Amino acid sequence: MEIIKDVVCPFCGTLCDDIECYVEGNHIIGTKNACRIGYSKFTHREGSTRHTGPLMRENKKDDFKKVDWDTAIEKAAEILVNAKKPLIYGFSATECHAHVYGIELAEKVKGVVSNTAEVCHGPSVWALQDVGYPICTLGEVKNRADVVIYWGCNPMHAHPRHMSRYGVFSRGFFRERGRNDRTLIVVDPRKTDTAKLADVHLQVEPHKDYELISAMRAALKGFELKGEKIAGIPVETIYEAIDVLKNAQFGNLFFGMGVTQSGSKHRNIDNAIELIIDLNAHTKFTLIPMRGHYNVNGFNQVCTWISGYPLCVDYSSGSPIFNPGDTSVTDLLMRREADAMLNLASDPGAHFPQKAVERMVEIPLIVMEPHQTPTTELANIILPPAIAGVECGGTAYRMDGVPIALKKVIDPPEDVMSDKEILKRMMDKVKELL
Ligand code: SF4
Repeated sequence: MEIIKDVVCPFCGTLCDDIECYVEGNHIIGTKNACRIGYSKFTHREGSTRHTGPLMRENKKDDFKKVDWDTAIEKAAEILVNAKKPLIYGFSATECHAHVYGIELAEKVKGVVSNTAEVCHGPSVWALQDVGYPICTLGEVKNRADVVIYWGCNPMHAHPRHMSRYGVFSRGFFRERGRNDRTLIVVDPRKTDTAKLADVHLQVEPHKDYELISAMRAALKGFELKGEKIAGIPVETIYEAIDVLKNAQFGNLFFGMGVTQSGSKHRNIDNAIELIIDLNAHTKFTLIPMRGHYNVNGFNQVCTWISGYPLCVDYSSGSPIFNPGDTSVTDLLMRREADAMLNLASDPGAHFPQKAVERMVEIPLIVMEPHQTPTTELANIILPPAIAGVECGGTAYRMDGVPIALKKVIDPPEDVMSDKEILKRMMDKVKELL
């Protein structure tokens, strides 16, 4: 048995880089340090739902037939070239070199390119373009933070090693006693497993985050808060929480989809960033979004280098146009403007609104996905790639914006290429057809 050390877990935005994989033959039979989700990602790559070659069907009611790579890629390129408004979407569970080819492909076919941030942290990305981004690294949180807020997220389930590696329990350079050196504040309408660990749980009413942030900013600036409760929280508790924040030596706010997808959306994040800016008049305070997919952040970075915008980029006029709500993939599907779609490294069939999924059923759909998913069930063409971070290397961006090199641990199934290689071959074919 071979032990491969310092492997990066390609599942959530924490991108733990201390995983050990136990490899026998070409199989990962166990892991050390990974949480249960990470363990599953490494060990459940095989099985009956894994596709190991391209599949195609003309009619979505028919069964899939096996085809060779040349035929499948040529047909996929034809679909994209012949469409008036092709969408290229997903990207969050693959590595950055695939992002580059995907964005260039969208430009070539005059399509729209976007990633899953549309339905998670898109509002964070829009807000930071408006009011800035007072961020730090997870290492700084680990070594310095004595006050940590988790707002609208539940890392105990969604990012299981986040609190132990960085957020709360870890022993840092200036926080030698780990949990005993930190105050944990959780803001959540529910008493989640994360909230149960908190020193202070602010049980905000659903969709009242904006109100609470505004009250905190007002209290911080010395204004009197009127009434007994604001956003469901007693006014005295808000004052007490503000005292904790002001007296921190180094604080950090982690925020999740409970804030980005509740009422006020990106205005919540505008306001939260302003709260952090206000706190910096008293102490050092930062914020970090709790990104879900392991490389959802990477796509936003790569897309910004290439097009100037982080997601929802429409190339149909020949130049990049960014106008979420108008150029977002979900909206283009729901308005039935999109007439073809290439999806990779995401599962919109399981997560998009019903109307958007109905449009995906009507139009030609190409899916690059290693396993059977609700989205592959809607496809005309399935192009199964190697699993990035397990069967091929690459680069991914952690939730704090630190790029990390992914390792190849084992070989992919015979004849299976990486996302990057499939997209490159599709691009070559598109150039021939145009
Ligand atoms: S916390 Fe996230 S990155 Fe770390 S091992 Fe678990 S799933 Fe993987």
